[in-house]
Amino acid sequence: TAALEIRGLKKIYDNKFEALKGVDLTVAEGDFFALLGPNGAGKSTTIGIICSLVKKSGGSVKVFGVDIDKDFSKAKQFIGVVPQEFNFNMFEKVQDIVTNQAGYYGLPYKVAVERAEKYLKKLGLWEKRSTPSRGLSGGMKRRLMIARALVHEPKLLILDEPTAGVDIELRRSMWEFLQEINAAGTTIILTTHYLEEAESLCRNVAIIDKGELVENTSVKSLLKQL
Ligand code: ADP
Ligand code: ADP
Repeated sequence: TAALEIRGLKKIYDNKFEALKGVDLTVAEGDFFALLGPNGAGKSTTIGIICSLVKKSGGSVKVFGVDIDKDFSKAKQFIGVVPQEFNFNMFEKVQDIVTNQAGYYGLPYKVAVERAEKYLKKLGLWEKRSTPSRGLSGGMKRRLMIARALVHEPKLLILDEPTAGVDIELRRSMWEFLQEINAAGTTIILTTHYLEEAESLCRNVAIIDKGELVENTSVKSLLKQL
């Protein structure tokens, strides 16, 4: 089974704007996949639909064979999402942000605490565990979003423009970290409008523009075309 299978995905927003015009997309298990496209192409809308934060207007989405319309509570266990915008409670402590997310996935408290420690350490945030999130730098907040998205150890990690506005040093260390967890078996999909990011990290790529898929190929053959 594919990690992600999207068929005929459509989104029409309330103002009648057609953000997705029937997108087909398949991402294989274990892939490191880039969804590339200019601002406004429909990348965030696609991600929002996959994790059920945005209601689709048509089409279907399967995650590891599970249709999100039929069993979202099962599908959500497979998915970890790193949104583009920080959406923390600014007064909540770093460690609590991660353990509370584990509660959303139904993990026992003991497991939540262990996982929070594991991922905060991996992401260099363990020293900050008792700091309210508003006390973190922008780069630390990015890493906290990744730790939070991994707490239930999802098979598919989706990141929306993970390195937008991130300095070069942190970008490199985030890339390394993502490569490490991909090598350990996690399928990764990221959206980006930097070709360079797709080139450095990803094996396969889809290009989306004005709500339509314009290319779906390996990064290698995309670079040959340019
Ligand atoms: P991307 O992530 O590729 O930059 P988005 O998925 O955020 O693109 O947006 C795709 C298009 O849908 C854009 O033109 C955007 O303005 C529009 N859009 C996004 N959210 C809404 C909304 N809530 N209502 C109306 N239009 C929206
Ligand atoms: P439940 O499935 O337990 O009824 P909801 O769907 O009502 O939960 O969502 C609870 C909260 O989690 C909401 O604030 C929602 O925005 C957020 N949420 C939903 N899906 C995800 C996801 N895949 N990853 C992270 N947060 C999510």
